[in-house]
Amino acid sequence: MEKIEFVDLKSQSEIIGDTILNAINGVISHGRFIMGPEIEALETKLADYTNAKYCITCSSGTDALLMALMTLGIGPGDAVFTTPFTFIATAEVVSLLGATPVFVDIEKDTFNIDPVLLEQAIEKVIKKETGRLNPKCIIPVDIFGLPADYQRINKIADKFDLMVIEDAAQSLGSSMGQQRAGNLADIAATSFFPAKPLGCYGDGGAVFTNDKDYFEKLISIRVHGKGSHKYDNARIGINGRLDTLQAAVLIEKLNIFQSEIEKRNNIAKIYATELADLVQVQKIPHGYSSAWAQFSFLSDKREKIIQVLKQRSIPHAIYYPKPLHLQPAFLCLDYKIGDFIVAETVSTNILSIPMHPYLADAQIDYIICAVKDAVI
Ligand SMILES: *Cc1c(COP(=O)(O)O)cnc(C)c1O
Repeated sequence: MEKIEFVDLKSQSEIIGDTILNAINGVISHGRFIMGPEIEALETKLADYTNAKYCITCSSGTDALLMALMTLGIGPGDAVFTTPFTFIATAEVVSLLGATPVFVDIEKDTFNIDPVLLEQAIEKVIKKETGRLNPKCIIPVDIFGLPADYQRINKIADKFDLMVIEDAAQSLGSSMGQQRAGNLADIAATSFFPAKPLGCYGDGGAVFTNDKDYFEKLISIRVHGKGSHKYDNARIGINGRLDTLQAAVLIEKLNIFQSEIEKRNNIAKIYATELADLVQVQKIPHGYSSAWAQFSFLSDKREKIIQVLKQRSIPHAIYYPKPLHLQPAFLCLDYKIGDFIVAETVSTNILSIPMHPYLADAQIDYIICAVKDAVI
């Protein structure tokens, strides 16, 4: 049996490596490294894939979130509601703009933001129980590739006149009903970090929207707030472009992306069936599908499982060992242990096992067997 990888980029490059090299050579020969023709070609393909009207590629998932918040004019005094059970970038960009992240606990079975608690948190802010903040925006995260409950979240947003930014960094390739991730809220942000379901060979990201006004602002913000031409600056923006080389890589990877998502789903089905009675696997609600950025489960025997996985050279990861409200970076927000019990408990018991489209049957069996041996 071959060595098990947590995320396997080598097998993929054995399949499409030559076409990727050709695409890279194509960029080197035309020489348009910044905003070359591959950028627009990729944006068209991604918009087709998600069925969003507009796609704006950019330099990373973090910058995609930042550009989305800037487009909505989020700044000092604004409250942005989000989950504490996510990667730091989700809330970091809120603070970077001088706005205030307001954390809301997660559901214990999907690990996504809890809509009931979200509504309570918004009402608290409106009643000024949590300082003088203006509720402006919600950033649900599609954790591990599973879309949050946008049916309820978008309704709550309408009720309180808030905007919703979907953090789809982990969820490109998933769906809610007939709609794909990247098209579930006012604006969506995704990441092409190499280990994400659709990864490039460096940093990259994209923003999606159906709103023409947002689209035009995003185009401007991506290049230093440009106006009608490069040296006309209509607003403050960033240097947020995706490299042409990365776009060329992504175009080739997108060709096999859907088949990779299907493979991830097949593996997840086997994992879920075999492990259901032993650990608490992430629940995928009816009508939803996941992109399976990670396959994660809860177990109060996590240490024991990790020990066995280590003995058998099976890679694993803990996403996330410490929820954001307890991170030193957010000390100034004055949260404390016990504020978000579900996120805290999940952080203590969560474990992710290898998940990528190129896991062989024997490897899958070997991993399942190790978890079984550890908990039985
Ligand atoms: C990876 C990730 C990001 C940031 O993406 P980068 O491309 O690394 O900047 C943001 N949010 C979530 C939930 C992520 O997993």
